[in-house]
Amino acid sequence: MKVFNLLVVAMLAGGVANAQTHVEPEIALKMLNAQQQQFEQGIVKVADNVFTAVGYHGANTSMIVGNDGVIIIDTLFGPTSASKAAEAFRQYSNKPVKAIIYTHSHGDHIGGASAFLDGEQPDIYATESFGSAEGVNKAVDPVKMKRNVRQFGRKLSQSESTNRGVAPANTHDSDRGKGFLPPTVTVPGSGLKTTIAGVEIEFHIGPGETDDAMFIWLPKEKVLFAGDNFYSSFPNLYAIRGTAYRNVLSWSNSVAKMAEFQPQVVVPGHTMPIRGQTAATTALKDYSEAIRSVYDQTVRGINAGKGPDQLAHEVKLPEHLQDKPYLIEFYGSVPHAVRAIYAGLLGWYDGNPTTLNPLEPKLKARKIADLAGGTMKLTEHMKSALEEKDYQWALELADHVKWLDDGDLKLARSVKIKALRGLAAREYNAPNRNYYLSYANELESGQLSEVWF
Ligand SMILES: [Zn+2]
Repeated sequence: MKVFNLLVVAMLAGGVANAQTHVEPEIALKMLNAQQQQFEQGIVKVADNVFTAVGYHGANTSMIVGNDGVIIIDTLFGPTSASKAAEAFRQYSNKPVKAIIYTHSHGDHIGGASAFLDGEQPDIYATESFGSAEGVNKAVDPVKMKRNVRQFGRKLSQSESTNRGVAPANTHDSDRGKGFLPPTVTVPGSGLKTTIAGVEIEFHIGPGETDDAMFIWLPKEKVLFAGDNFYSSFPNLYAIRGTAYRNVLSWSNSVAKMAEFQPQVVVPGHTMPIRGQTAATTALKDYSEAIRSVYDQTVRGINAGKGPDQLAHEVKLPEHLQDKPYLIEFYGSVPHAVRAIYAGLLGWYDGNPTTLNPLEPKLKARKIADLAGGTMKLTEHMKSALEEKDYQWALELADHVKWLDDGDLKLARSVKIKALRGLAAREYNAPNRNYYLSYANELESGQLSEVWF
């Protein structure tokens, strides 16, 4: 994993960098390709009687083999992918399914349950608050879907696709949720310790990515199933597809609680299991500390009167955590987390009276153009920014030109498309990269209305 250390500190030699996940394009690609190993399809033997299927869809599913049956933890997105994982599991055990456990209610963990069954009616375990994780109000579903498609790069061509940070680029999604079976056993707020098919098993409540999350502990095998509160990437404390505030502090606390078990193996909700007591425990401790540090730095900055724009650039992972392979920002992003914490704690207003009633975009664009010496001059600046690979600035100027009555809208649009592709090439943060590329394609094909550009 040492390769990451070198890659992450690689400087951007040409052009202007505006984000900490920006490196030279060939390095960004190398990093994303290396991350691919985290979700290559296969069955991982986690312990003598525990198997995890990685890469059959976006998330992982696991099987614990007991005396007279098996336990399935998480069930993928739909029956098509789940039946492939179930078939692979059957090479190791043909015993009937005695229990299914949902670590949380996100679609990529619950939609394929029926595919594991052959007439059995197992107990299905979930937390009391199961299903409370919808995230964002249904009223904004139309725009949420658009943003989801961009974040995951669902419509990107083969050559544009890399991956989704903690999941492969292409997954079978048309049967979403078709195999979902509702929970039949509620895990109380105090957790649950029981024996299923002769396997001692513990359920511990652990809110984080979702409020309805729990983690699973096998005391004999010393295996911990973390759900989506842990995977190999800085955590997605905010999703750019649009989510309600995720309780960052609870997330950090839940992962700290997992570390106390000192597992032999930690099985994440996505990406490869981490083996060895020291490696697994250190990873969990580091993860918890990273989340807590981003939270604490943001809160300190807020109380010092700083706004989200400034803090998004200032807050960094502590130095001793920056080269940990499981904290590289392939999926979650520190600056996005900072903004989410800000908005989650204080709402949209940054406390600066200037921003109480900012200028309307069209009027601001006019004033910026006048300041530049007229629309022609502003347009020249926009073109130069693109040529100098100062892509973020090119985007911001293109957005101003868009609003001008005498602006060259076609030119501004083409500058925006090129700048988005320039930024995408540098990104190793998969959601950002996918979003930039998807948006560029939508602009180019004319799908986007003038509201968007
Ligand atoms: Zn997931």
